[in-house]
Amino acid sequence: MAGELIEKKMLIGGELVDAIGGGRLESINPANEELIGYVPDAGKEDVEQAVVAAEKAAPGWGALSVGERAAYMRKVAEKLRAKAGEILEVEVKDTGNTIAKMRADVASAHKALDYYAGLGTEIKGATIPASAKNLHMTLREPYGVVGRIIPFNHPIKFAANALSAPLMAGNCVVLKPPEQSPLSAGFMAEICQEVLPPGVVNIVTGNGPSTGDAIVRHPRIKRLGFTGSVPTGMAIQRSAAEIAVKHVSLELGGKNPLIAFPDNDPEEIARVAVGGMNFAWQGQSCGSTSRLLLHESLYDRVLAKVVERVSALRLGDPLDEQTQMGPINSKRHYERVMAMIEAGKQDGARLVAGGKRPAGDYFRRGYWVEPTVFAEVNPKMRIATQEIFGPVLSVFKWKDEEEALELANSTDYGLTASIWTNDLNTALRAARRVKSGYVWINGASGHFYGTPFGGMRNSGLGNEEGIEELLSYTENKTIHILLK
Ligand code: NAP
Repeated sequence: MAGELIEKKMLIGGELVDAIGGGRLESINPANEELIGYVPDAGKEDVEQAVVAAEKAAPGWGALSVGERAAYMRKVAEKLRAKAGEILEVEVKDTGNTIAKMRADVASAHKALDYYAGLGTEIKGATIPASAKNLHMTLREPYGVVGRIIPFNHPIKFAANALSAPLMAGNCVVLKPPEQSPLSAGFMAEICQEVLPPGVVNIVTGNGPSTGDAIVRHPRIKRLGFTGSVPTGMAIQRSAAEIAVKHVSLELGGKNPLIAFPDNDPEEIARVAVGGMNFAWQGQSCGSTSRLLLHESLYDRVLAKVVERVSALRLGDPLDEQTQMGPINSKRHYERVMAMIEAGKQDGARLVAGGKRPAGDYFRRGYWVEPTVFAEVNPKMRIATQEIFGPVLSVFKWKDEEEALELANSTDYGLTASIWTNDLNTALRAARRVKSGYVWINGASGHFYGTPFGGMRNSGLGNEEGIEELLSYTENKTIHILLK
């Protein structure tokens, strides 16, 4: 496949199609800036067709039993598993994420489909003893057409995740993949075309401000599920509200603290800090613990070991199994990460590792940044308050628990937090006080299906990866039956 351009289509109404206007988007390999393929550039009229197709399919899909819908979803999951090898290579080239890490992402993409396929009979209503004379009951009904918009960091996994809960709940979906890494969504389009009735899943590729906005503003899409940055999430809320009353759920960015209490082994904290920062994704994972909050007794030893580990990370061809870190996903994002590194220097943080393009011929082209660590960071600095979504770790020092929690809660974000101590009381006190929606005690990065994932504060609205997400794609209807 090397060197061949990959051309993928959209899926609308059961057909694999180009954009009506004929426009295409280029997909670039961020490791070397080479063109690797094209996808259609959908306009408003393509989105309109996708919505019409979804509306047409929705009554039939919603009328199937949960078992019948589950069987379709399991078939999609099975095909996704079967194509994992083919998707993997494309996904690595399209995202720049290392093959060693991306393999698990692609191999587990089917999991959400299987998980929600098994959860269908939990879409339950209730009977409520609200009066003596009536039987009061609730039914959960699908919205009909759901719009889903996803970011660039885990494209095939997020595409599968985004379809799973809405489909199980009986909705049809219009999905927009990320413009920077859109190719794997083409595989998903092909699989859905083979397996599902026409219109149940529609995939439209294109830019956020045009294709994405057309979904958000579509008057007949009431339910929107968005994963992406805080500024885009806020823009989506505004745009949606200009058109209609919509249910918008938001999985947004984070500036997540890892709090290390004094009873820790410095070697272990250095290891988990580097792991939790997700350098293997170039820091481009929403749950990355990008703020390392060290007790003063650990600070010097952990910092030295973190620098040692980070400096030893092997950057290189993302398709090489030995590579531990790839390039930033796109030029625009690379420039933003570099600007944030400059902001760190200007604001007075001490650069102790990385901070520039790596040396060597291989790294002349592409969007490469060394894994970077700043020490002596304080909560007023831009690198302390703004999500960088790049390989940049900020290290803070604290004296007492109060200060640690104040630091942890000193941003507008609230996605994840990682707390390290062997003292149960300290751990639980900190877990209760930290303003984050997903907290690990003596852990980081792990996701567990069945437990609700979602952000507090500006990191989001709503929960995914559990029953809450499934139910959020239904509307309650209350029925009162007078018993004569
Ligand atoms: P982004 O710029 O907000 O884009 C996310 C998606 O929204 C993309 O598909 C984008 O399309 C689309 N979009 C952009 N502007 C839009 C608009 N005006 N209307 C409708 N859609 C629009 O985020 P990103 O840079 O792709 O991803 C990184 C962000 O996602 C980080 O903040 C990260 O923390 C967050 N994230 C959160 C989670 C979570 O579960 N909480 C998971 C992963 C990532 P184009 O790509 O075509 O512009």
